Amino acid sequence: MRDCRTFANAMEKTCRQITTDVTVIGAGLTGLTTAYWLSRRGIAVHVVEKRDRIGGQIQTNHKNEFIFETGPTTGSVSTAEVAELMNDLAATSNGKCLLEVAPDSAKRRLIWKGDRFHDLPSGPLGGLTTPLFRFSDKLRILGEPWRSKGTDPDESVGSLACRRLGRSFVDYAVDPFVSGVYAGNPDTLVTRYALPKLYNLEQQYGSFIRGAMAKMKEPKSDRDRLATKKVFSARGGLSHIPEAEADAIGRDHITLAATGVQVRPAGDNWQTTFTDAEGTTCQLTSRHVVTTCGAYELPALLPFIEEERMKAVSSLHYAPVMEVNVGMTDTYGGDYIAFGGLVPTVEHKPVLGILFPSACFTGRAPQGGALFSFFLGGVRHPDMLDLSDDKVQHIVTESLHTMLKFPREARPAFIDISRHQKAIPQYTADSGQRFEAVSAMERDYPGLTIGGNLRDGIGMGHRITQAALIAKCIINKK
Ligand SMILES: Cc1cc2nc3c(=O)[nH]c(=O)nc-3n(C[C@H](O)[C@H](O)[C@H](O)COP(=O)(O)OP(=O)(O)OC[C@H]3O[C@@H](n4cnc5c(N)ncnc54)[C@H](O)[C@@H]3O)c2cc1C
Repeated sequence: MRDCRTFANAMEKTCRQITTDVTVIGAGLTGLTTAYWLSRRGIAVHVVEKRDRIGGQIQTNHKNEFIFETGPTTGSVSTAEVAELMNDLAATSNGKCLLEVAPDSAKRRLIWKGDRFHDLPSGPLGGLTTPLFRFSDKLRILGEPWRSKGTDPDESVGSLACRRLGRSFVDYAVDPFVSGVYAGNPDTLVTRYALPKLYNLEQQYGSFIRGAMAKMKEPKSDRDRLATKKVFSARGGLSHIPEAEADAIGRDHITLAATGVQVRPAGDNWQTTFTDAEGTTCQLTSRHVVTTCGAYELPALLPFIEEERMKAVSSLHYAPVMEVNVGMTDTYGGDYIAFGGLVPTVEHKPVLGILFPSACFTGRAPQGGALFSFFLGGVRHPDMLDLSDDKVQHIVTESLHTMLKFPREARPAFIDISRHQKAIPQYTADSGQRFEAVSAMERDYPGLTIGGNLRDGIGMGHRITQAALIAKCIINKK
């Protein structure tokens, strides 16, 4: 009898059974936000994460009196869903997770040309006087509302912008913007996938300028007005968002350090198997499964999908990005009150851009100091991620002097380097096929949702919006 019990206990230990309504794969922003909204509506969720921490690409760090991010630094309150999440989290976390928006002074954006940063013009007068664009292109922009509409649905961002605005606008506005957001190349990103709002302005209104003016005049509901487009973080750092979400979901409903995660259909249910940190085999049974991991993870995660079919999804290319945070305890009188500076490819500098987080958010640097986040690599310079830490430190300290104009004697309080081999997905010409392949898989396997940044946008605002919509869809089916 005793032997039988021991055997049963051993079996229990080697195979833990969990039943839930929804299994979410990945404890990044998409996964946790989906699970948060579901659990707020009383739906049982279990999140399975392969790393030993939550947050995915989001990670806030502290060094001395500095607070810095090694993943995303700022988001945009681009949709009502972002504002709604932050409002709800403020309440459920008892004020531990609070939205922080950047002040107007941080709206200033800089672009490198020649030997210094210049302000990116924000109005017509600045547009006429800026040295960034050619005079002929400044005149050309006056004719933008009457230029004919493009006919190639797969036109690249670079080609569309060049046709409507001129080459110097591509080189000194569009290219650095695409580097800053996608770490990508405007000549390979397809506008309707990478920047669908821009594509629709031309397609619906025939012009960016006419479209933007028409949009401004459109009546807005109170909910529309929540999308302020302001730059945001959370007070004290972005990690407060996933931490507050995980607290609300309940840490017991999140398994970290799961290995060998596999999802399979099982009749009307789904079965997710994995080994937890204690080496116990676990089997999760649920009505729905939501995946939120990178496309490259899907072949191993969903082994029941044929290889050929999966290839259309898993072949998605991700730009590698290196983020280097530099803390300065003294600004030596320099003016670093801006969102940051971006570097056009035609300027041939080793960095893609430098953000000024301490100008955007409180407490990121000690009084009198400043925090800078340098970005290197991207699709054009993937080899930068192979440089040794010494070489990276040399590039960054040189850039501090030559680009940010710190005196030679200035020494950083710290330099922190983080390498992201698969940072930002590139929505290139094959995206349409990919989105169709994902939709077809979801149609063929009811109860399976394939989310994450392989579709619906790459920024945190997109992730929060997608998660809210996935949760809503599951709630509506219940
Ligand atoms: C360097 C960098 C800078 C960025 N800067 C910005 C910015 O300034 N503003 C902005 O809006 N966005 C920025 N982004 C993008 C932003 O970080 C992402 O949009 C967002 O964090 C992605 O969240 P996610 O949950 O979709 O994916 P992730 O954060 O990647 O989360 C996916 C999770 O799934 C887990 N996982 C993977 N495979 C499995 C598996 N088989 N089983 C279980 N779990 C698995 C992963 O470990 C991970 O935790 C940046 C990204 C990077 C890398």
